[in-house]
Amino acid sequence: MRIARFSIGDEVAFGVVEGDTVAAIAAHPFGEIRFTGARFPLEKVRLLAPILPSKVVAIGKNYAEHAREMGSEPPVEPVIFSKPSTAVIGPGEAIAYPQKLTQRVDYEGELAVVIGRMCREVPASRVPEVILGYTCANDVTARDLQQRDGQWTRAKGFDTFCPLGPWIETRADPSDLAITTTVNGEVHQSARTSQLMHDVPALIEYVSQVMTLLPGDIILTGTPAGVGPLEIGDEVSVTIESIGTLTNRVAARD
Ligand code: MG
Repeated sequence: MRIARFSIGDEVAFGVVEGDTVAAIAAHPFGEIRFTGARFPLEKVRLLAPILPSKVVAIGKNYAEHAREMGSEPPVEPVIFSKPSTAVIGPGEAIAYPQKLTQRVDYEGELAVVIGRMCREVPASRVPEVILGYTCANDVTARDLQQRDGQWTRAKGFDTFCPLGPWIETRADPSDLAITTTVNGEVHQSARTSQLMHDVPALIEYVSQVMTLLPGDIILTGTPAGVGPLEIGDEVSVTIESIGTLTNRVAARD
């Protein structure tokens, strides 16, 4: 099932995407789904970020090849950091390039896990029970600030630096999905989620030992090798097998 969040006119709703239509659901997608009966052609609605999380927890250097391209060995334990909820944008929204503050903004295509229920200290074997589904993410990063600051809050925390979408796929098996990032149609990252050093159950177990996860929270699972810069005017797309494609343009920040 594909759960989208969309607007039409002044209304914002969640809905289930079926073919080229979206069937609106009442309230939120956690727990039992109740259809309102309203249905719209997909081309008539605007897809929004599929969820507004209370927090985004991200994993650094979780593909060995990417750790090496960043000049380090893969870490033994997952490296976790967070992005503010205010960084989240939806498909088709612009990534605002803060050109007064950074000269190097990189894309990082990533598989995102959407948490479905409040949980903590979840053993890996029970992780499927707490997941609503999966979506595509771009962990946009001001690489020069990341290196200068020595920690990553500023580099990864700008408004618009966490595109999510286009929807939440609830049926995907995250263990071996193709993930591809293109810039202006050219492939820059191409990998499979089977190359994750710490897989989704291990990550949720690890993160939930630290903090309570709430419905809608996002876990970014790390980016493969091939990161590189974006320029104003670029179009960047993250495609994950059986989920979909998230596309955003890069615009100058006002
Ligand atoms: Mg990342």
